[in-house]
Amino acid sequence: MTKKNIAIPKMKTVTPTLDLTLVTEMRLIMGIQTLKTMCLIVHHYFHCPMTNLTLPAGKECYHPFASQLDWEIAQWAVTEKISQKALDRLLNVPQVQQKLGLSYENSRGMLKCIDEIPERCGKWRTKQLSFHDKPGEHFTVYHRDPVEAIKALWGDPAFAEHLVYKPGKLFRGAEQTENNRIYSEMWTTGFWNAVQHAIPVGGTVCPVIIASDKTNLTRFSGNKSAYPVYLTIGNLPKAVRRKPSARACVLIAYLSVDKPNKQGLTKKDLKLRTYEIFHHSMAHVLEPLKSAGNPKTGGIEMVGGDGNVRKVYPLLCTYVADYPEQCLVTCTKYGTCPKCQRKANDLGIMKEAHDTSHDVAGGIEPFWKDFPLTDIHDCITPDILHQLRHFKKGIADFSQVTGTEHKHIARILLASLTGKVDQRGIVACKALLNFIHLAQYPSHDEDTLGYMDLELNVWHKNKAYFVEQQTTKDQINIPKFHSLLHYVNSIKWLGTTDNYNTEAFERFHIDMAKEAWDAPINAITSSDDPTNIRIAKHPHETKKSLNAIANSHNAPGFIPALKLYINSLLPKEGQVTKAEALSIGCLPFTLLDVWHHFKFTPMCQKK
Ligand SMILES: [Zn+2]
Repeated sequence: MTKKNIAIPKMKTVTPTLDLTLVTEMRLIMGIQTLKTMCLIVHHYFHCPMTNLTLPAGKECYHPFASQLDWEIAQWAVTEKISQKALDRLLNVPQVQQKLGLSYENSRGMLKCIDEIPERCGKWRTKQLSFHDKPGEHFTVYHRDPVEAIKALWGDPAFAEHLVYKPGKLFRGAEQTENNRIYSEMWTTGFWNAVQHAIPVGGTVCPVIIASDKTNLTRFSGNKSAYPVYLTIGNLPKAVRRKPSARACVLIAYLSVDKPNKQGLTKKDLKLRTYEIFHHSMAHVLEPLKSAGNPKTGGIEMVGGDGNVRKVYPLLCTYVADYPEQCLVTCTKYGTCPKCQRKANDLGIMKEAHDTSHDVAGGIEPFWKDFPLTDIHDCITPDILHQLRHFKKGIADFSQVTGTEHKHIARILLASLTGKVDQRGIVACKALLNFIHLAQYPSHDEDTLGYMDLELNVWHKNKAYFVEQQTTKDQINIPKFHSLLHYVNSIKWLGTTDNYNTEAFERFHIDMAKEAWDAPINAITSSDDPTNIRIAKHPHETKKSLNAIANSHNAPGFIPALKLYINSLLPKEGQVTKAEALSIGCLPFTLLDVWHHFKFTPMCQKK
């Protein structure tokens, strides 16, 4: 890949983030801006065991560098953060270049070499979208071919021993009946077992998982943001997919973040235009999947990491997004259910049914139209992080018990409610907490799914307490609670929630750290009712630079401590060692809001 092909977008600076893959991808569409950014890129390529694995042995393996020494010098220059000018001065020393046999005579030549490192998951392309009524207005999408990305995952030798090529059914005990099924990995699910019969005999299904992240726009330096789309495949076990270092999630697109020009558009038109931009962009990005997955005419021969050639049918099976984006993806009106399209007023109804007659944002052609064997509503998965953070956040983050089990949280929560709400309130909360705990089981059978139904029934029977108290009236019918109804079926259809929760993708952004800092406490009972710990709505100091915080609070250890804290917030498999966390050059943000105090109300002082 050469730099010439790439249009450089408005965003010009890249702040290195903790995620090296992301930085690598950003480089591709932005060009190398600084040696610092490059440092991470080279670090990634040279230290990535997978890249090394895919390289052939011998001299060739240093291509595009001329020799081992050639790239080791580049690696040294980059990881030691040698300035371009200093490197040029070294290379200008007579005979240095010749004696070392270097292929580049200055830092520019070296950068060019790095640029020529072959791409793992296909070339980046640029697509300009515009609309008939405003031909002058363009929306830029950077993307690469999803089929190429799948091929790369499929053929990666590092995944060879992990890939699963056919579905199956797991049973507990000897009796192989539906009532004895166990649901866990993608290959045990209803989806894969069903579509396997819909493709030609001998074909291999590749369940495609797409995730996009609009609401938590990735924050780069300043107010720059990006709208990433990721792809991974259900053939890989969930543990592999969840591990950022395994590089099983491929960034396949950056969608436009530009807002459409309001001129001449009504409020409704403007909203529709936003939908159109998203769907047109995604239709363009995912177009290759449509023909590749077609059971009649599709099927792509792919070489697996095991060396075998298979005819692979990539089928879109899961779309991971938070609630607002689920609405966008399914063309469902905000406030209704993206799975069953139930109207906002009916979300409390305790029955699951498809009802497509109401409240659908119409008038646009959704990207998933004509996707083979895909029902986009079935693709929507419970978003355990967002749907249930309501309960997790306020408690977990501020009492510093992040990472502990829900049992632990439940204990704190229930204890803190005792004496404040009546028996029904306690029972309702307990049921909900049990449900959340059960929903995170890594495998389920009819019994455990039955327990989820039971807890949900108890919650619905007792939730009226909160309505009567007029504390959470608005929250009872919200889609969050309604969506709990879909968990059991979704687990049977797509696998347990640990297959597809958004945490796996959010991890790319370190947004959790941000939220831990600026999310106001969400009380489970009511916004009027004081919880244990409260902070002011507005920070005492906004957007204070990290260095300024360290200086003004006389806390030289603040930034290292913050790095360790952020690292500790990551799920276990995403964490790095203490030394690695401390060695990270830059955090993905430079400013923080500061609160000088919080209020703590002991239980006994509450009325
Ligand atoms: Zn629903």
